[in-house]
Amino acid sequence: MASMDKIFSGYRERLAAADARTGSFAKGIAWIAGEYVPLHEARIPLLDQGFLHSDLTYTVPAVWEGRFFRLDDHITRLEDGCGKIRLKLPLEREELKRVLVEMVAKTGMRDAFVQIIVTRGFKGVRESQPHEIVNNLYMFVQPYIWVMEPESQYGGGKAVVARTVRRVPPGSIDPSIKNLQWGDLVRAMHEARDRDALYPFLTDGDASLTEGSGFNILLVRDGVIYTPDRGVLPGITRKSVFDVAKANNIEVRCEPVPVERAYQCDEIFMSTTAGGIMPITVLDGQPVNDGKVGPITRAIWDGYWAMHYDPEYTIQIDYAEA
Ligand SMILES: *Cc1c(COP(=O)(O)O)cnc(C)c1O
Repeated sequence: MASMDKIFSGYRERLAAADARTGSFAKGIAWIAGEYVPLHEARIPLLDQGFLHSDLTYTVPAVWEGRFFRLDDHITRLEDGCGKIRLKLPLEREELKRVLVEMVAKTGMRDAFVQIIVTRGFKGVRESQPHEIVNNLYMFVQPYIWVMEPESQYGGGKAVVARTVRRVPPGSIDPSIKNLQWGDLVRAMHEARDRDALYPFLTDGDASLTEGSGFNILLVRDGVIYTPDRGVLPGITRKSVFDVAKANNIEVRCEPVPVERAYQCDEIFMSTTAGGIMPITVLDGQPVNDGKVGPITRAIWDGYWAMHYDPEYTIQIDYAEA
């Protein structure tokens, strides 16, 4: 795939340049209580409810070739999540964006994984009046992370439908609020490893698919893309899939997806900010269709990475300012 070669070779060149860079923030930076700290020195206060009770929500935007990708969409989803669990983003949107751009500029990183976490703060819900609670914000920038390594994206990865654990039900933990309660997802990753795979697909405990350990699941059958509408995080990467599909006249159905369909489809791919569009060519030890990355997955892959150069979806970082 020519475009994959182009995207990945450019990335490898920038990575080599990044390895040579020095300075206290060259390997990462964190923002804690208004202070910039080198990432490897960053610490969270033990008494934050985010740590003690996972009382938090977060989001992960990425920077690609010196541009933030869909940062406003990430902040909007973060605000929605905060609203649902009675948190308030401690910084205004424009200030948040300004700080994030400054952080990335200080690292000099052209490709980065950025985490923004909003926690309840030092006062818990039981022992405090609502007006006494002050939420905390933590942010950090580190080198771009690949849930599926570039080399594996050519041939696709191996997934399993998890049998030993199900996705937490929305009535317990609302998966539309991005959260760090990964108990089910970590168990599923262990099961995947035990079954010679890296990527678990979790069901809703009944007959429907949900999502995996930090990624959405998309199936292709007869030219139509199917992805679960419930029990999942509405991924920003998946939103890009919807945009690319629309531009290419590919129909998308966001609706309940029976587990069975995963075994009767033409193509499978996953989507996440940390790695983009990731083809799955083996499911439960069996090849998906002919075991090769399919044409719709390729078209989505190409369109997704092309968006990273489109000013409509990106914010250019000015590194000279830092
Ligand atoms: C972050 C995450 C995703 C992918 O979301 P993107 O916004 O595309 O990065 C999917 N599922 C879960 C559980 C996640 O935590």
